Amino acid sequence: MNEPSIYMDNHATTRVDPRVVEAMLPYFLETYGNAGSTTHVFGRDARRAVDEARQSLAAGLGVKPAELIFTSGATESNNLAIRGAVQKRRAIGRHIVSVTTEHPSVLDPLARLGREGYQVTLLPVIRSPDPQAGRILPQQVADAIRKDTILISVMLANNEMGAIHPVDEIAQICNARGVLLHCDATQAVGKIPLDLAKLPLDLLSFSGHKIYGPKGIGALFVRRRVPPVRLQSQIDGGGQEAGLRSGTLNVPGIIGLAKALELCLAEMPEESDRLRQLRNRLYDGLSATMPGVTLNGPTLDQPDWRLPGNLNVSFAGIDGEALLLTAANLALSSGSACSSAKPEPSHVLRAMGLDNDGTRSSVRFGLGRFNTAVEVETVIAILSQCVGRLRNIIA
Ligand code: PMP
Repeated sequence: MNEPSIYMDNHATTRVDPRVVEAMLPYFLETYGNAGSTTHVFGRDARRAVDEARQSLAAGLGVKPAELIFTSGATESNNLAIRGAVQKRRAIGRHIVSVTTEHPSVLDPLARLGREGYQVTLLPVIRSPDPQAGRILPQQVADAIRKDTILISVMLANNEMGAIHPVDEIAQICNARGVLLHCDATQAVGKIPLDLAKLPLDLLSFSGHKIYGPKGIGALFVRRRVPPVRLQSQIDGGGQEAGLRSGTLNVPGIIGLAKALELCLAEMPEESDRLRQLRNRLYDGLSATMPGVTLNGPTLDQPDWRLPGNLNVSFAGIDGEALLLTAANLALSSGSACSSAKPEPSHVLRAMGLDNDGTRSSVRFGLGRFNTAVEVETVIAILSQCVGRLRNIIA
């Protein structure tokens, strides 16, 4: 019998919402001009559409349109924010603070900067089985700041564990101490409330394909206040995006990104409640149908500590990869798909203090807009069957 596949890997990427596709289509077929070619109507129409999309995104985030730089995605935004900021501040100092559980698109640029003579402090996260496992405390950031600290980079929400860091308090600390704060908000934008009019951080990265928008488009928020945050561009050429990111603008992508955020923001209150309920039912169902199910990451009953659609559990004695191969119709992830090119145990789970067994047996669930209660029940049934079968083989 061919069971339909169930996609529950929404931290890796999301299905594009048909309403987003619909908004994008005219920008492939009709308004296909280069937004830089303003001498003709094709280009001017494209430019106008980009301007409107930028305004809509800015309003949704609580920023000014000129504070958004379009990029190819969060990896590029993170590289531009981190490398661009520290290169401009080299004369002030060489010390950067971040967290051990950041995404590789933050950790790898930091490692390279380390080789180039910068000093990087990576803060440890609270270890399992604490209810706040995976989070950091604001005081850790305050204690790590030195006279020569030029940048702090802390993600808003983690892609494996869903842990939400206390970025509000961290931003207050950085602001008071005069240190730039960058935030990788790729997993958080459109999922949890975020108002940059109130949050005094300087740089924020996000991406279209995590919010039911297209792949290959993202943005970096760069605060323009006095004194302005200055960045060294990393891609030079035609001087687009105020010289910070050269390259012909991805007009359909930009339209899609704006539509995707608009939909997420309009639907967030009901959608986050719905996802939280589905996620909690998934955990309860898995725990009730088999022994040896351990929750990884923050407790599920504190909405401020964990993304609504995230669940990460370890199945005692089971190899996560083997489980995912056995449950072939389920699209889940063991560790992070983003680092699957490097088949090593998850650095995030290890940072939380999980041993080899806990790490090896972990599975990440990312529930999203298109998941249903029926799918959750099916996933529970399939996994309890597969885990039972694998445990019988081992026994
Ligand atoms: N940061 C986080 C937290 C992510 O989850 C991801 C994607 N897995 C990225 C950055 C990279 O995003 P992109 O795929 O848009 O480059």
